[in-house]
Amino acid sequence: MGDPSYLALHRTGELRERAARATSMLACCRICPRDCRVDRIRGERGYCRTGRYAAVASFGPHFGEETLLVGSGGSGTIFFSSCNLLCTFCQNYEISHLNEGGEVQPHELADMMLRLEKAGCHNINLVTPSHVVPQILEALPLAVEGGLRLPLVYNTGGYDRVGTLRLLHGVVDIYMPDFKFWDPEPARTFCNAPDYPDRARAAIREMHSQVGDLVTDSRGVAVKGLLVRHLVMPEDTCGTAEIMSFLASEISPGTSVNIMDQYYPCYRACEDRRASRRITRGEYARALQSAADAGLKRIDSKA
Ligand code: SF4
Repeated sequence: MGDPSYLALHRTGELRERAARATSMLACCRICPRDCRVDRIRGERGYCRTGRYAAVASFGPHFGEETLLVGSGGSGTIFFSSCNLLCTFCQNYEISHLNEGGEVQPHELADMMLRLEKAGCHNINLVTPSHVVPQILEALPLAVEGGLRLPLVYNTGGYDRVGTLRLLHGVVDIYMPDFKFWDPEPARTFCNAPDYPDRARAAIREMHSQVGDLVTDSRGVAVKGLLVRHLVMPEDTCGTAEIMSFLASEISPGTSVNIMDQYYPCYRACEDRRASRRITRGEYARALQSAADAGLKRIDSKA
């Protein structure tokens, strides 16, 4: 396994500079597209209800992620509390909406990364990181000095600001965004974010320009690149065919896509009829077919 990208930035001092720049942005927070402009350094909270420090719900080796991330040692997941998207159907709503978890100082976050490495994980999988990018950057030099050499996975809902992602250029090796909705209407209804489709398209373009298509090592474990997740919803609420066509034609036909069938109504999902049931086998088959029709070559599925 080669060195993760952040090592070069650490050697030149650039990693610490990025962390300082990102942390100063917390004083008028525009880290994500919510654009709250609250002073998180002074304890004000915006849409993500997260202050100066990140909060973590849990961390540990995870074997339920994509095979490409899990390998034999598991993916080293760190689940951050809260979220900047807050979907009404969230399957982890205790963590995202109800803020389960506790605040961590940078050295504690670094220590979690090191413990995951020691446990034999193949990567550090940062789950729901969009609202805590500064805190991740702040912890990373401490972890690197402690010996961290695993690639970082940025496991996001896809509602990211491009300017913030640029701070992660050369830091994150594997981007794993969701692309949830093609149309503004369901994005507004389910996530209160009508600009989600535009933001997700821009974010995925930026991610791909940084890391390219997914690359694996000799064991078949991902080391660098883009892996897009798409959760199929009932009645094609998410616009699967349009999303697949965008990925194939505007990102790359070699984009790795995981088309997920595990949607189930959770939390406040049943407030909208479209989200109040599981998907049918036919709906899932049509989603897979639309990815193949779009020309995508690397489709991961349960089929
Ligand atoms: S990171 Fe949080 S406070 Fe900052 S803009 Fe996004 S939702 Fe608002």
